[in-house]
Amino acid sequence: MADFDVIVIGGGPGGYVAAIHAAQLGLKTACVEGRETLGGTCLNVGCIPSKALLNATHHLHEVHENFEKMGLMGGAPTVDWARMQAYKQDVVNGNTKGIEFLFKKNKVTWLKGWGSIPAAGQVKVGDEVHTAKNIIIATGSEPSSLPGVTVDEKVVVTSTGALALPSIPKSLVVIGAGVIGLEMGSVYARLGTEVTVVEYLDAITPGMDSEVAKNFERILKKQGFKFILGAAVQKVEADATGAKVTYKLRKNDSEATIAADTVLVATGRKPYTAGLGLETLGVEMLPRGQIKTDDHFRTSVPGLYAIGDAIVGPMLAHKAEDEGMAVAEIIAGKHGHVNYDVIPSVVYTTPEVASVGKTEEQLKEAGRAYKVGKFPFMGNARAKAVFQAEGFVKLIVDAATDRILGCHIIGPGAGDLIHEVCVAMEFGASAQDLALTCHAHPTYSEAVREAALACGLGAIHA
Ligand code: FAD
Repeated sequence: MADFDVIVIGGGPGGYVAAIHAAQLGLKTACVEGRETLGGTCLNVGCIPSKALLNATHHLHEVHENFEKMGLMGGAPTVDWARMQAYKQDVVNGNTKGIEFLFKKNKVTWLKGWGSIPAAGQVKVGDEVHTAKNIIIATGSEPSSLPGVTVDEKVVVTSTGALALPSIPKSLVVIGAGVIGLEMGSVYARLGTEVTVVEYLDAITPGMDSEVAKNFERILKKQGFKFILGAAVQKVEADATGAKVTYKLRKNDSEATIAADTVLVATGRKPYTAGLGLETLGVEMLPRGQIKTDDHFRTSVPGLYAIGDAIVGPMLAHKAEDEGMAVAEIIAGKHGHVNYDVIPSVVYTTPEVASVGKTEEQLKEAGRAYKVGKFPFMGNARAKAVFQAEGFVKLIVDAATDRILGCHIIGPGAGDLIHEVCVAMEFGASAQDLALTCHAHPTYSEAVREAALACGLGAIHA
């Protein structure tokens, strides 16, 4: 008899959710995690610490920008970087300990150490080999490297180093204008760092609705960001005092160099599967290093599943969590499913940017007839009261049926507002369904309803 029904390798959002849900479904479950703490990239060096620093620095930004306007006098507080770091670590610790508690509560065994799969149905941790009827690989991802750039996590850092710099740099070059680069850039820009983002493409946040991306770029520039777009980084030369980034402008091949105290390489992440023994097992891989799975998360080896950042799809914690839930259900003989058409994505800057479903560009390319309903936060009383009236809600619906196909929001609370639309999309709702739903006043959510009204006869407050 196998030691476990399920062994999950990796204790991140994909792995720990799969483990807890498998246990909830009555399966004897263990989770292998090599880090000292559970929670994976997300809780330890990703979503959670970045949001803690974004929160602290957002308040500082508010003091500078808006406090006097509201009659709150007395000047800006000074920044104690060590205490801000300690606050961040407290938030991380609280969350990782929370997962440990949930493991105990649900009777999930934490096998501490790095796991490998010596043969189908076996997981080796340290010197011990455990057997399992099902194995789920949830080993996540690691930062991608860039030719000509050596990361030392001191002067030239990945997001992990950027979350824990020894001091606030005077200048920071961010390579890559994706979500992680812009969030970490925001943290430091609000702390007074001169932030320059060098991006290979001609626009920021690749894949985002281009109207939103343009507005986002404009707003970030107002916050002090400098952007060098269409620039291919050639090399980064660093010493103990700082670094020089050499880039080539794609439009005319001209080369230039920019100096900074710190360089953040934020050019994306790649699946992490090292040390598992997948080659020996004969697990089929995809060209970009992901584990190949079918739509039931099955790999090419029977009894071996994979989820999260280690497989294809958006590298997001909630996508990994949903796959964790689904794979546990499938192993338990139920009907686990992830709807990849309704996975929201959020940038936690100020303003927040959130989207779900199709962009206009995607619909144009597919030749699908659509309508757009847009509503600016300038017409939203609550947003104006908190000085966050920049941005808009853009709802995209099928031209014939009015069914919601996508939504893109830049504005206050966008990361929460988007879920109203996600639920609507899951229920196959039309814009009219949203427009006919009473929304409390004064809330940011009214802007979503107004965008829905704009898909019909027109918004009221615009
Ligand atoms: P991971 O979280 O990477 O977890 C994998 C775990 O497996 C790790 O703990 C690792 O130690 C362990 N492991 C690997 N190999 C082994 C082995 N052989 N044996 C034992 N253990 C092993 N996503 C969002 O949705 N929202 C955000 O706001 C967000 N912010 C981010 C900010 C930053 C700076 C970064 C870097 C990422 C962010 N992400 C965010 C992405 C998110 O962190 C990942 O998508 C998510 O963590 C993926 O979950 P996972 O379970 O697949 O893998």
